[in-house]
Amino acid sequence: MKLACYAASEENSLGREFRESEPSHRNQFQRDRDRVVHSSAFRRLEYKTQVFVNHVGDMFRTRLTHSIEVAQIGRTISRSLQLNEDLTEAVCLAHDLGHTPFGHAGQDELNLCMKEFGGFEHNLQSLRVVDVLEEKYAEFTGLNLMYETREGILKHCSRSKAKELGAIGQRFLDNLQPGLEAQVADIADQIAYNNHDVDDGLRAGLISFDQLAECELFSRELMIVTEKYPMLSDKRMIHEVIRRMINTLVSDLISNSQENIDSLNPLTIDDVRGAGRPLVKLSESVAKQNLELKRFLNKHLYKHDKVEKMSADAKQVIRQLFDGFMSEQTLLPEDVQKSIVNYEKEQGTSGKARVIADYIAGMTDRFAFAESERISE
Ligand code: MG
Repeated sequence: MKLACYAASEENSLGREFRESEPSHRNQFQRDRDRVVHSSAFRRLEYKTQVFVNHVGDMFRTRLTHSIEVAQIGRTISRSLQLNEDLTEAVCLAHDLGHTPFGHAGQDELNLCMKEFGGFEHNLQSLRVVDVLEEKYAEFTGLNLMYETREGILKHCSRSKAKELGAIGQRFLDNLQPGLEAQVADIADQIAYNNHDVDDGLRAGLISFDQLAECELFSRELMIVTEKYPMLSDKRMIHEVIRRMINTLVSDLISNSQENIDSLNPLTIDDVRGAGRPLVKLSESVAKQNLELKRFLNKHLYKHDKVEKMSADAKQVIRQLFDGFMSEQTLLPEDVQKSIVNYEKEQGTSGKARVIADYIAGMTDRFAFAESERISE
């Protein structure tokens, strides 16, 4: 398929940091996607949670299934807008690689633990995973991904962090937008989690159809489905409503973004970067409904007593691991201890804390639990 002139392409790409030979059976962005799929951080997403702690119930989303759903949604949108679908897919699959165990509770606690040592932010960590932490190749550290893939992974960043990051952080200092593929991946993420959290929340019995009726996006589709199929089981009803919600959001996003693009009429990817605002956006009315749903989930699901209880336990595990490893580093595997020696030389205690944060962030939910039991023995 022919790409739009403002899409990211191999021709207009800023390339890889370390020069490599051309791939022979795939393009450069497909190579990035494949590197992400073969990374160990990607495999570990299977046992990390989004909202529910892994193995509380096997029927719930993990970060791996979430990332695959994000990629599915992102690819559809990208293709419809004549953007680089392979790049969007690579960004979507990589976007959560830096997540700690136990979802946001884990990230918040690790950030607190790291307060004195430069903090912890999952989005920055995703970039760190692909740039530094994956050790697989003989000739370079990290996955040596294309600039555009890394640009998409780094969704947000403070100005002070941006200064430390060099070229990839520069756009935050210059107030530039990322390419459209990155913009698509960002919204595909939101569409995916809002909808699958409704699904998981309903099936877990933490939220109900009645409660959700206050959300316009949900109630409108529910009415259509109930009218058409009055005898439908709850299980099928949930899916019929959710697939319609996703379709509504995706369709609106495609048509509204195309309008934005048409009215700006960018001729190159740099026109997109310099547009001063993102072009991939929901229309105002649908964005409002989407926000309503997000707020609903925040209030009724993410802050549900049962979820809060899991979050509190999770935070305790993270804190215990961090404090335990900081005070007794012989509890760590040998290669991590070696890393500490190297980082400490350059950065002192902050370097040591960073290595420990990397180690904890890489853990799966169940490994974190097992480690916390081991070190408290
Ligand atoms: Mg995500």
